[in-house]
Amino acid sequence: MNETKANNLTRIAPNERMRDTEGSRSGEALIHIPRLAKRFEPEKEADAIEHTCTLCPLECGADRAKETGACGVGGFADGRDPYLTALIARAARHYYEEPPISGTRGSGAIFFSGCNMACRFCQNHDISQSRKGVLTDAGELAAIMLRLEALGAHNINLVTPSPHTLLIAAAIEKARLMGLSVPIVYNTNAYEKPETLRMLDGLIDIYLPDMKYVGARVAEKYSGRADYFEYASRAVLEMQRQCGVLKTDEDGIARRGVLIRHLVLPGSVDEARSVLNWIAEKLPLETHISLMSQYTPFGELPPPLDRRLLRREYERALEHALTLGFENVYTQSLSSASSEFTPEFDGFFE
Ligand code: SF4
Repeated sequence: MNETKANNLTRIAPNERMRDTEGSRSGEALIHIPRLAKRFEPEKEADAIEHTCTLCPLECGADRAKETGACGVGGFADGRDPYLTALIARAARHYYEEPPISGTRGSGAIFFSGCNMACRFCQNHDISQSRKGVLTDAGELAAIMLRLEALGAHNINLVTPSPHTLLIAAAIEKARLMGLSVPIVYNTNAYEKPETLRMLDGLIDIYLPDMKYVGARVAEKYSGRADYFEYASRAVLEMQRQCGVLKTDEDGIARRGVLIRHLVLPGSVDEARSVLNWIAEKLPLETHISLMSQYTPFGELPPPLDRRLLRREYERALEHALTLGFENVYTQSLSSASSEFTPEFDGFFE
């Protein structure tokens, strides 16, 4: 298998069956035309929210001007608008995404602090469960995007963006007006309200959602969100409606579309199969799927989360994906199950 620098993720070509393959490149040359939302005005939306936030499925109702929501966002000390400000823990080129996202020059990853899920095995727990980073408004976020593009990033990759929809929309509009031309990637756990995602229609070029679980019991046990699939399934369909199947340029770099990730967990091959079955039933078989094996246990975890994924577990999940007929599957070496691929959250513009 032709391993890539991008987190050991390799595309397995159509009709290949679990044998080493060189990642093939497909797709037409696409020219990116900046598109601005015409009807949606983030600043007015932020004013309208007033005292209770219902942006994500938790609908925790926090007054983010005074307190933190269940996602850990809000309550900023200096009185900044809590819907148009975020803590950013890291902004730098990132080489460990799938090959069409990282390419050769890296993805311009911007890591937001806070998260609306509570995964027991979170690999970004440093920022998802703690308030860490630099307070950033829409103008500053736009400037960060432009700086990452100037450094050569193939795209702007917004990591854990869900609580920040209004800020993101405002920043993208500003950055586009200032000349940003690379695609915007929305890199999400998919625990999203479809109506919130619709605010981003026309602003996001590439959706990079997880599809973690179908079962409510496992979603509750591992992530504290029994209704995960109820929301994630509708969110992914909304992403597909907006952007469609992933398209790449002549160099194999993603320009527009959806790429779905599933992290295969120890002892959860049946869950992986259920996720793949749902995708096969609802979306085209050309849908790009990244089947990840990089699960790494952190801290005190109950079995089976206290161990790494077994080779035979990953192979059974992959075999199922291929049996279903998916044409664009990214596979990952088990050697990726290492904290080496988890970035340090203290860097800007490396
Ligand atoms: S985005 Fe945060 S503050 Fe808003 S509803 Fe969700 S958890 Fe609560």
